Amino acid sequence: MIHQKIRRLLLLLSVLLFPVTLYYFSPALIISAGIKGIINGSFIIFSIMLIGSIFCGRLFCAYLCPAGGLQECAVLVKEKAPKQGWRNYIKYIIWILWITAVIFCYVSRGQVIKVDFFYETENGISVSNIYSYVIYYGIVFLILIPALVGGKRAFCHYFCWMAPFMVFGTKLRRMFHLPGLHIAADKKSCISCHRCDSVCPMSIDVSKSVEIDCIDSTECIQCGACVDTCPKNVLSYRMIRKEKSHGK
Ligand code: SF4
Ligand code: SF4
Repeated sequence: MIHQKIRRLLLLLSVLLFPVTLYYFSPALIISAGIKGIINGSFIIFSIMLIGSIFCGRLFCAYLCPAGGLQECAVLVKEKAPKQGWRNYIKYIIWILWITAVIFCYVSRGQVIKVDFFYETENGISVSNIYSYVIYYGIVFLILIPALVGGKRAFCHYFCWMAPFMVFGTKLRRMFHLPGLHIAADKKSCISCHRCDSVCPMSIDVSKSVEIDCIDSTECIQCGACVDTCPKNVLSYRMIRKEKSHGK
């Protein structure tokens, strides 16, 4: 499918650029910047993720995230997606502890001294010396090992510190009844072949969601694998407004 090829190509580019972009996704640098009262690159990127997800959900995870790209490479070793369960909540526990620390740092500083998007980078490049190479490979293994052991997108399932921003944005959209990107379903055409279930990297029960006309799980990264696999074209991308939520 050309759509999936383009998506994978974008992810590959994102992986290749990861040595440049690493610090703009850093959960540590935002803390060090917060202590100094600096709005750094990762603060700005995480804010864009949160605002963008109000309308686009977790599209970033499927099309642009370097961690997502690395994990899609790991599919060569382990293809099966991990089941959803209590482990999916680990990322929220990590996020709450971390975001509390971030807020504490900025609040205790009491004022914003400056905005420095390129904070701690060298001419905008993250990996520029031996020390940052050690950090880079540490992060790469941190992302790859869960995917190699646990399966498809296991890091997204269990540990990602960025996913909760987008889940939070999706919840805000629902709370204010705003329109947003969804995978919509035409349930009349569904033949219950369950092919969509087998390709979902986030282990969502897609065929069950078809019955409520749209996938509204906040775990959906909108990769479109289910859309492209369905033999009856039941699923499609749509900007819709959901009045109530059926999923988590
Ligand atoms: S792949 Fe399409 S037809 Fe098959 S169960 Fe899923 S939505 Fe229904
Ligand atoms: S439900 Fe479909 S679009 Fe969402 S993550 Fe699963 S396969 Fe991708």
